[in-house]
Amino acid sequence: MDTNTTLRTSASCADSQDPTSLSVAAARSRILAALPDITPAIKRPLRDALGQVLAVEVISPFNVPNHTNSAMDGYALRGADLPQDAIGEFRLIGTAYAGQAFAGACAEGECVRIMTGAAIPDGTDTVVMQEQAEVAGENLIRIGTGHRSGQNVRHAGEDIALGSAVLKAGQRINPADLGVLASLGIGEVAVYRPLRVAFFSTGDELRSIGEPLAHGQVYDSNRYTLYGMLQQLGADILDMGVVRDDPASLEAALQQASAAADVVITSGGVSVGEADYIKGILARLGQISFWKIAIKPGRPLAFGTLGKALFFGLPGNPVAVMVTFLQFVQPALLKLAGQHDYEPLLLDVVCNSRLKKQPGRTEYQRGILRRDGGRLVVEKTGYQGSGMLTSMSQANCLIILPEACATVEVGDVVQVQMLGW
Ligand code: AMP
Ligand code: MG
Repeated sequence: MDTNTTLRTSASCADSQDPTSLSVAAARSRILAALPDITPAIKRPLRDALGQVLAVEVISPFNVPNHTNSAMDGYALRGADLPQDAIGEFRLIGTAYAGQAFAGACAEGECVRIMTGAAIPDGTDTVVMQEQAEVAGENLIRIGTGHRSGQNVRHAGEDIALGSAVLKAGQRINPADLGVLASLGIGEVAVYRPLRVAFFSTGDELRSIGEPLAHGQVYDSNRYTLYGMLQQLGADILDMGVVRDDPASLEAALQQASAAADVVITSGGVSVGEADYIKGILARLGQISFWKIAIKPGRPLAFGTLGKALFFGLPGNPVAVMVTFLQFVQPALLKLAGQHDYEPLLLDVVCNSRLKKQPGRTEYQRGILRRDGGRLVVEKTGYQGSGMLTSMSQANCLIILPEACATVEVGDVVQVQMLGW
């Protein structure tokens, strides 16, 4: 007698293998291949360029530093005069300050008192630090052996040579880059215009902060995680609130969003039950593909164009929103914003937890990466349900378990993707 009473009517996200699903890598490369041109360049004052993507290569208009100078407080002298086997004496002929060079020149047996950053006086090529010199009289300095000709001198152009490419187009401008640009006297730079990204949440159960919460309703958290992640990418954000699950409201919101933004992101409403009527609306307004991706969490994803805007329909579950954003939306937005490095840096680390996993899909478990003795180890953050946003807030990384991987044992090496902040 057949005792199997399991009922299955179609493939679902509980199945480990679904032949109709797309791998994470395939979905990502389809998205990256479908991107329109990057946004145009605009000029920004230096400080406002922080976090924006540089649109041009920056060539140095001069040497930095522009003068050969001392790396130490001490005495500048001729390297050829350095004592070899006995203490030597030097006649002190003046002082060089940073920003106030010594006017004369040094002859054989002479030295100049010099401060860090001061131009190296004519005739000298070597600095002996003050801690290794002795003031033996009013104008007499004693120096011992063990010095090297040319020591403690920073050469003109040592940091940045005239005509060299200092910053590349496609680089996101960080605080050090701001300093480098400032050291070249550059007060305005060309960056790509930040992307305008509109998003809204869908679901009749969703309430916004400030509204009362009835039984069965939840506060909308996706608009806040999306806001946070988009903010970190330097996007211009248009938060359109919660849109009800009804065709007219959805259509109006999608039209308004696609007219106002380069990219439209929605969350919720692309799962199997809801996709059909949203599919109809999206098909009327643009060209959208609905994918089942071999990923956990975040199996359904809609991607395409709405008018001139790029469209991402993310799943509704709060962790799935963040994971699919990080895997699919973030690299696309970075590339679209002109950034050359849009792939995340992945680390190989030892896993300190046993991770249950079915082969057939890529899983992103939430992890805490820390130092243990001399090495990096990762542990999972408790329960990994796709609605458990606290698992994401406790995590500092995602543990990436590739499709082919089965259960991970303690001590196995896994790949992690660091989360921002
Ligand atoms: P959906 O993809 O619309 O079927 O939603 C899947 C699950 O995610 C449901 O439990 C929703 O209540 C929840 N959800 C959808 N959107 C949001 C949101 N913006 N904030 C919090 N939870 C959400
Ligand atoms: Mg919904």
